[in-house]
Amino acid sequence: MKVLVTGGAGYIGSTAVAMLLEQGHSVNVLDDCSTGHASSVDARADLFQESILNSQAVAGALQGVDAVLHFCAKSLVGESVTKPEIYWETNVYGTRILLDEMKKANVARLVFSSTAATYGEPREIPITENEITHPTNPYGASKLAVDYMITSQSRAYGLAAISLRYFNVAGALRSKTGWQTERHNPETHLIPNVLRASESNPLKIFGVDWPTKDGTCIRDYVHVVDLIGAHLSALEAAQPGTHEIINLGSGGGYSVNEVIAAAERVLGRKIPTEISSRRAGDPAILIADITKASKYLTWSPTLDLNQMVSDAWNSIQ
Ligand code: UDP
Repeated sequence: MKVLVTGGAGYIGSTAVAMLLEQGHSVNVLDDCSTGHASSVDARADLFQESILNSQAVAGALQGVDAVLHFCAKSLVGESVTKPEIYWETNVYGTRILLDEMKKANVARLVFSSTAATYGEPREIPITENEITHPTNPYGASKLAVDYMITSQSRAYGLAAISLRYFNVAGALRSKTGWQTERHNPETHLIPNVLRASESNPLKIFGVDWPTKDGTCIRDYVHVVDLIGAHLSALEAAQPGTHEIINLGSGGGYSVNEVIAAAERVLGRKIPTEISSRRAGDPAILIADITKASKYLTWSPTLDLNQMVSDAWNSIQ
């Protein structure tokens, strides 16, 4: 199959590119490299270094393509609050252009990178796909708008589509060409920050007064290799005229303190930390119910937190 990977120069997208190529697929990448890195794209893929807002470029990248993995997005929660317009433009309008060009090119298969941020503060843990969607920031709202847009496109035009709602993605792939690593600037995610912490730049723990067993927030971490495995299954499982929404996590949770302890085991040394105030918009606990992923995609995660931490560590050495 020939697959267009939008956002294929980013952390998760470039991992998808490498895994698709390893499975014998051919790959086009559309990425303006505004946050991703051209050097992260496996040289066997064709890179179209263009914006998703450029419909001609999107049409060019879709030539000969059978299916699309759509990762391209703005994805910083804090920035989405201060500059919401770029979230509506890139995430929503960009996807509108992609869907229009896919329709023109008769590309009728899509897997979309959605997010647990569409749920906001959940009523129940673990979170099922039936949870009410009340996003608490423009990032989550823009991804939810895209989910609605894809549903209507499937019903009207027969698109085969699956949205995958990620919880916390971590770890790294060692592909034939090297490590596909997480290289965000600024870096906001817990595991990369834990691994980079030093005496002069200790890890800030955002709140120790949460209503959890040790007072720190609990999140559901899934290895990026498992996550992309689910995308490959979703490419096969998507059915014409339907849009399925499926959570991807591990089904279990770790507190911030437990993640730090895992890193201390992997690195064999103490991680310098300091207690900081709560970060705006953080819910106390987010854990996925992954029953639907296991049934619909015949998928379950295989790589644990220690593996995520040690792969993330090795990828930055
Ligand atoms: N976190 C933290 N220090 C950091 C980064 C994150 O204490 O430097 C906490 C954050 O408050 C949250 C958890 O770690 O409870 C996971 O945060 P991350 O940004 O990795 O993912 P999110 O859950 O926001 O998608």
